[in-house]
Amino acid sequence: MVEHVIPKNLEEALKYLNAKPYKVIAGGTDLMVQHRAWSALSPNFKTPLLFCFNLNALKYIKVQNDEIAIGSMTDLETLLDHPLTPEILRKVISVMASPAIRKVSTLSGNIINASPAADSLLALYALDAKVVCRSLHTEREVLVSEMVLGPRKTQLKAHEIITEIRIPKTSFTHTTFVKVGGRLADAISKVAFVGCAQIVNNQVKDLRIVLNAVSATLIRQKAIESQWLNKAPNVLQSQMDTILEAYEAYIQPIDDQRSNKYYRKQTALNLIKQFINTL
Ligand SMILES: Cc1cc2nc3c(=O)[nH]c(=O)nc-3n(C[C@H](O)[C@H](O)[C@H](O)COP(=O)(O)OP(=O)(O)OC[C@H]3O[C@@H](n4cnc5c(N)ncnc54)[C@H](O)[C@@H]3O)c2cc1C
Repeated sequence: MVEHVIPKNLEEALKYLNAKPYKVIAGGTDLMVQHRAWSALSPNFKTPLLFCFNLNALKYIKVQNDEIAIGSMTDLETLLDHPLTPEILRKVISVMASPAIRKVSTLSGNIINASPAADSLLALYALDAKVVCRSLHTEREVLVSEMVLGPRKTQLKAHEIITEIRIPKTSFTHTTFVKVGGRLADAISKVAFVGCAQIVNNQVKDLRIVLNAVSATLIRQKAIESQWLNKAPNVLQSQMDTILEAYEAYIQPIDDQRSNKYYRKQTALNLIKQFINTL
């Protein structure tokens, strides 16, 4: 039997977390795989679990000021069908896992699992999404791109739980998502790409490029993006080598069972090029 508690509400969850270390479990689609044991044995958890997936008060998606606010226990399948879900996030979720896994998995789990190949992070980085982290006595807001520090490493503190994901409302004229994987469903990315741009009067007013699975954390370089603002798309296209060289410095993939570093690097550069050529 796995040692666990099932809080009735958020207040109770925060009290448990304040009293001693618990591992928050949302859908468990990462945790149960990581802690699996031989068949017929209980999963192998060293820390007691705080089961939060039944906290209905954390299941919502709504407009709040200029943002879309998503309760942290909202499952991905609900987000996929919801009209308030930003288009690029919906595109990404539509190829994550499979309907059954999406029914019990969450954005907060994908964020805190902090895999370099996490798919929802592509959209969350591109959208400048933030998470709200709460403990019994504190509340803070952190950019998702700053929350993730490295593979399986985040800056979430021991007594904190993510309660909400906040996404600033933004509009783009161009959005692209490409996932390169072994198959369409239940595949972890070999490399994946999100590009978003806003072109007004033939000028690039907003440009966001994010890659996963080609370095220890996802790549989004705002300094590179801002160099190309207020220019015509054909200027970017004529300077393609300069843009690709700038990204190449950050693309440092590894070899693993899914792909090799040469394929990943070339594919990542091709995806950036393809996107810029569509502007
Ligand atoms: C068959 C299969 C296919 C998959 N396919 C994909 C895929 O295509 N793309 C992809 O990116 N991922 C994929 N995954 C991984 C997984 O489904 C996702 O990462 C999912 O979003 C995890 O959400 P969860 O709610 O199940 O997280 P959990 O397993 O419950 O938790 C994951 C981590 O997040 C922490 N956590 C969760 N919620 C909170 C919170 N509110 N506050 C604080 N900490 C929290 C947990 O403590 C744990 O460390 C797949 C998994 C499986 C089993």
